[in-house]
Amino acid sequence: MEFVKKRLLISDNNPSIVFNAKKCIDCGLCRMICKSTNGIDVDKHNAEGVAVCVNCGQCSVVCPTGAICERDDVDLVKKAIKTKGKVIVFHTAPAVRVAFGEAFGYSAGDNVEKKMVGLLRKLGADYVFDTTFGADMTVMEEATELVQRLKLNKDLPLFTNCCPAWYKFVEIYYPDLINHITTVRTPVNITSICIKTYFASKLNIDPKNIFVVSITPCTAKKFEILRKEMNSASQYNKDGEYQDTDAVLTVKEVVKWAKSRNLDIKNIADSNFDSMFSRGSGAGVIFGSTGGVMEATLRTAYYFITGKRPPNKFLNFNKVHTYEKVKEARVRIGEYNLKVVVITGLDNARKFLDDVKNGKNHYDILEVMACPSGCVGGAGQPKNINKSAPYRRAMGLLNYDEKLNLRYSFKNPDVIRMYNEFFGYPMSEVSLKVLHTSYKAKQNYLTKE
Ligand code: SF4
Repeated sequence: MEFVKKRLLISDNNPSIVFNAKKCIDCGLCRMICKSTNGIDVDKHNAEGVAVCVNCGQCSVVCPTGAICERDDVDLVKKAIKTKGKVIVFHTAPAVRVAFGEAFGYSAGDNVEKKMVGLLRKLGADYVFDTTFGADMTVMEEATELVQRLKLNKDLPLFTNCCPAWYKFVEIYYPDLINHITTVRTPVNITSICIKTYFASKLNIDPKNIFVVSITPCTAKKFEILRKEMNSASQYNKDGEYQDTDAVLTVKEVVKWAKSRNLDIKNIADSNFDSMFSRGSGAGVIFGSTGGVMEATLRTAYYFITGKRPPNKFLNFNKVHTYEKVKEARVRIGEYNLKVVVITGLDNARKFLDDVKNGKNHYDILEVMACPSGCVGGAGQPKNINKSAPYRRAMGLLNYDEKLNLRYSFKNPDVIRMYNEFFGYPMSEVSLKVLHTSYKAKQNYLTKE
């Protein structure tokens, strides 16, 4: 059935975005971006009468009237803060630190990490951790998985999965290819799991009393945390059924909340992340930019395969072509001559997915992110009329990585401690159980939820 309206039809139950019909002028920009950038079949809808949605929220970015916005979950967090006995733990994604300041007069790309941590404490956080730690854990597991697949020549190319919009897209449109998606959980999920297992046991806190809030640039994470398999900590702890992450707030939501309290980061003292998961490597930080997951994974795969640190300018297509939507490279690691591709915009991935399906044009790794320039251009970042903002945020992350002494996930002391004290080694029995997941073909989504 064709839509009568030009706009997208959005479900009232969509966990990522909400639609206000009173503000809609039926310009159709939302429908256009959904179809052109993310290749969604906007003419198909499910039994509920709403369009297929991968939750990236880019429709809310282009909506000129604010008729489409991200779902506001601040009240959920405020309620938890007021609940006696709850321990409130925030963790913040890599891409957030270089955009947060824009709402307070800083430039896109300025890293305001310490001010942001200070602000979160003022808002009610008992602990603030860095999701970059989780990104480094993801790298350790994913690089190990890559090496295994290369040895077995199985399920290649490996698809990265840090973008929940991307892997939902594969589940819906390319269900035959779900075995290509890495089984490693995303950095947000892994950080939350480590909080509700390792951190809880170290501090002797009942995990059910911990409320974990992930601060992200991303509306798709609001959907991801509700997936029923995102309960790994409770499976491990065997103490009931609860989500690994209790709430996701975007930068825009946190800024609105802070401003309602007359808080401005300019007047807030610097504060550091709390020590248990405070350190992220440069490799983890660049997860926020297109090509970052690929580069980070290859840095560690290089070490696992050759036993040596990769040369400083190992890939280097990341910084040079951040604007480009499809970047291909060949990478030599030991005996392997890898062909890799990095893509933004889900529509741009279709050609590559068709090739994989038809056994044409061999690749070893595919990194795909839904949003422009990767998560730095996520729908939850501050609205910035300057079109170069995502690029400048990406440069902020890439320059930060270049200056850091700690640039490799396998060198991160917090990661080393987690393996020594808890997981043993990457893809150990316990890490496979806790840090890995599986996917489900969702082609039925095109006709019913
Ligand atoms: Fe979320 Fe990043 Fe994917 Fe955008 S690119 S939907 S911000 S994970």
